Amino acid sequence: MKLNTIPGIGPKTLEKLTALKILTVEDLLLTVPKSYDERKLCPTILETPAYYKATVESAPKIFSIRRNLKRLTCKINVLGTSVQMALFNQTHWFHQLNVGTEIVIYGTIKPSMTAQKVFLAANFKPGITPNYRLKKLSDTRFQGFVEKAFEGLTIPESLPEVIRHKFQLKSRHETLFYAHFPRSMQDVEAFFTWQKIAYLTAREIGRSQSDKAPLGAAKPVDPAHLDGWIKRLPFTLTKGQHDSVKVLVDDLKAPRPARRLLQGDTGSGKTVVALLSSVLLMKQGFQVAFMAPTEILVEQHHKMFQSLFGSAFKSTVLTGSLDNKVLKNRLSALKSGDIDIVFGTHLLFSPSTHFHKLGQVIIDEQHRFGVNQREALMQKGTSADLISLSATPIPRTLALTLYQGMDVTTLKEMPANRQPVKTEVIPLKDAKTLDYMIDMTFEENQQVFIVAPRIEDDDMLLSVERIESYYRTRFKNARIATLHGQQPATEKTVTLQAFQAHEIDLLIATSVIEVGIDVKNAGLMLIYHAERFGYAQLHQLRGRLGRHHIPGVCYLLYQGNAQVKERLTVLKTMTDGFEIAQMDLKMRGFGTLFGTDQTGFSALQAWPYEETLALIETIQETLQSTP
Ligand code: ADP
Ligand code: MG
Repeated sequence: MKLNTIPGIGPKTLEKLTALKILTVEDLLLTVPKSYDERKLCPTILETPAYYKATVESAPKIFSIRRNLKRLTCKINVLGTSVQMALFNQTHWFHQLNVGTEIVIYGTIKPSMTAQKVFLAANFKPGITPNYRLKKLSDTRFQGFVEKAFEGLTIPESLPEVIRHKFQLKSRHETLFYAHFPRSMQDVEAFFTWQKIAYLTAREIGRSQSDKAPLGAAKPVDPAHLDGWIKRLPFTLTKGQHDSVKVLVDDLKAPRPARRLLQGDTGSGKTVVALLSSVLLMKQGFQVAFMAPTEILVEQHHKMFQSLFGSAFKSTVLTGSLDNKVLKNRLSALKSGDIDIVFGTHLLFSPSTHFHKLGQVIIDEQHRFGVNQREALMQKGTSADLISLSATPIPRTLALTLYQGMDVTTLKEMPANRQPVKTEVIPLKDAKTLDYMIDMTFEENQQVFIVAPRIEDDDMLLSVERIESYYRTRFKNARIATLHGQQPATEKTVTLQAFQAHEIDLLIATSVIEVGIDVKNAGLMLIYHAERFGYAQLHQLRGRLGRHHIPGVCYLLYQGNAQVKERLTVLKTMTDGFEIAQMDLKMRGFGTLFGTDQTGFSALQAWPYEETLALIETIQETLQSTP
């Protein structure tokens, strides 16, 4: 329905609405308030702002504080208490606030207080007012249009009947109507619940539809070769790794392109699992693209590939720091099919990258990439399989919902050579007492990681630079380097390679080292200001240790009270990445777990974790129970 059929919407308003992407009457009705104000008189004095009935006790005075800033003050009586009220730049009240006038004010009541809003008592309408916060359109006007629009239109239902029935939801039409014109906060609540269920249900339905993705040709891999490759590995696969490789190989053989999330705690050995399936595929003449978020990780994965499978395949690296000529050569080798597998950063999905026959895309730390970036890379092949790797394992139900359209496989065990990382919690002010630990670590010929939350120096936080200058003075003979996000990518790569090669003894870094970096010889980690990190992040950080027969020790240095300490102490005994991720979700919600919000679940961020998880489960069950 056209917007100009609504009385009051002329060309000018139409323009404003268009700018707001409100193009039809349906759009108008679906533009719901961003928040609500509940106007209700407060019968007792609270510590937070509220609406109070009051009586003017003294005639107002006006003071000019500076140009453009005038203060009006008068005494008022609020619930029997005399209060000095101030109003800024609202001098028009001067003639209305006579002694004895009944008013309603909004603010926090103190002996002298600033009123944020004032009404004459007769004009104050208790109730709920929606805030639309639309550019250049007042709430009252907009609401007027909405009211008119509802007269001529019924909003079609969008939720399946089973879901509406299960949650006892009113119709979409009715729910939306009362979202615009709430009679009580219950209407607002009902609308929020409806929105949440509608959002999650849509995701679920989208998921089951993408299960019916168009068929592609099954890839003719020969699983009989798999055992040969596995036998050649310098380590024994865990049972979980064996099982997961089988799943990935079945994906390749299936007649439709697979989309699989392979999740497992940091160090669980996801990369080799993914690569084992790649190897079979490459044998059939397909190409593989392996994308990782940083150059350091790209190099590391490439090295690992070369050491395990390098003799049998042609591999290369594509990153932003290559010089133009090298880059050009590699791109053309990729296009002609001379390269079997390419490891790269964001460059992989850029328009200038072409493949000869891309059959599989592997994305490491997949939450670091946007869905669009992932899809851009997928489009470079026809019916390529996708494997996403995530080191933040979460419950399956949740993973299925968050990573829409993906199947989920979880690696539960850790390789046998993993050593537990001992975790200690000590106050930051005692950091120097750990110097002897550093000495001891050096004596064992092992390396030290120091992690700091940020680079710049300020009053609150110790910077990488300040920490660096301390350790350089204290450990004169040690080879010390720093690593942080503001360094050029090449510099970071060089530093990290030097650290991996044990040309550096002590590395001071920001959390850029968090993801996936493998340093075989590191024995000690100090995390400054551990209270600034989430559980999952701390777990990832300490996961850099204990990877290769060397037992690691990680010190969480905190600033704060006993509660802060207690929160961190939990990590001493908790070692399972699943439990840790869930605890993070419980305490900090969805948004913080993955840092960046590129996975497209921003709507979840404000919702309490456990409730939402239960809701997702109920929706999944309800939808499945109907044919
Ligand atoms: P993540 O799951 O954190 O990505 P990686 O795949 O990077 O872990 O593996 C970490 C290290 O462990 C790599 O050096 C890898 O070669 C090694 N690795 C993988 N699987 C095993 C295993 N079953 N036994 C011993 N080492 C393994
Ligand atoms: Mg990894």
